[in-house]
Amino acid sequence: MAAAGRGMQVISDPAEARRAVRAAQATGQRVGLVPTMGALHAGHLALVAASQSECAVTAVTIFVNPSQFAPHEDFQRYPRPLEEDLAKLRAAGTGLVFVPDRSAIYPPGFSTYVEPPSVAAPLEGVIRPGHFRGVATIVLKLFQILPADRAYFGQKDYQQTLVVRRMATDFDLPIEIRVCDTVREPDGLALSSRNQYLSAAERQQATALYRSLERGAELLRSGQRSRQSIEHAMRNELEAAGINAIDYIAIANPETLAETPEVQLPVVLLIAARVGTTRLIDNRIVH
Ligand code: AMP
Repeated sequence: MAAAGRGMQVISDPAEARRAVRAAQATGQRVGLVPTMGALHAGHLALVAASQSECAVTAVTIFVNPSQFAPHEDFQRYPRPLEEDLAKLRAAGTGLVFVPDRSAIYPPGFSTYVEPPSVAAPLEGVIRPGHFRGVATIVLKLFQILPADRAYFGQKDYQQTLVVRRMATDFDLPIEIRVCDTVREPDGLALSSRNQYLSAAERQQATALYRSLERGAELLRSGQRSRQSIEHAMRNELEAAGINAIDYIAIANPETLAETPEVQLPVVLLIAARVGTTRLIDNRIVH
């Protein structure tokens, strides 16, 4: 918040970004990092607020990372409302925004990638091969460019939080990883930059992801432990809304994402499905 009075620095040069972070730390200020792909919504801003509550300076990055998109995915189409994003961050009192060009992150000759940990293999790893390689690579690079004290991620991208935590541990990265709750619309739909692709009818259908997670949680709370029964009920909830393109419904160990035949609490319920042409993911932990 201290940075609010000084205005917001918008930086595109990696070396300058690193100097800005180091300069804040040299005066004893803790720096929090919030990596994003922009098209900011209240979910992103909750991460900014979480950082601001713990850190004197909050650095937000906006970069639509090409290496985490497969060729057939929505990299070109991904929304990039930069001026609106900057206005939101300014209003939130953000200290620093890093908005690099693609060539600053992936200059000619760039060819080193992170081999992601084993928790990257199931679920998204099956449907989006190479996705977490791109995620781990950009996150590691951003941690290098903006050597913050803490980094804030959303539970919305549950598997991503496991990948980032594991990488931070395995590579001894001197940064604390914080995970913040998923911010939802009043009807339960998890906020996502991709929600703006949805037509009005699809937006209505999309609420079934939340209902499906609720249904799974309710069954677990009532003592149901049959994976098949829970999955079936969750699938019904999606199909009843006309969502048939389901990539996965998982009932998994929250740490490893392993799916043992016998369901044991705590578990994380995870869904990925396409509503029209828009791919949505959501999850919920049940203790
Ligand atoms: P993205 O811009 O989609 O790469 O997301 C940037 C960060 O915001 C990631 O850590 C996401 O998990 C997080 N995020 C996205 N949507 C939400 C949400 N609805 N609630 C909380 N965090 C979110």
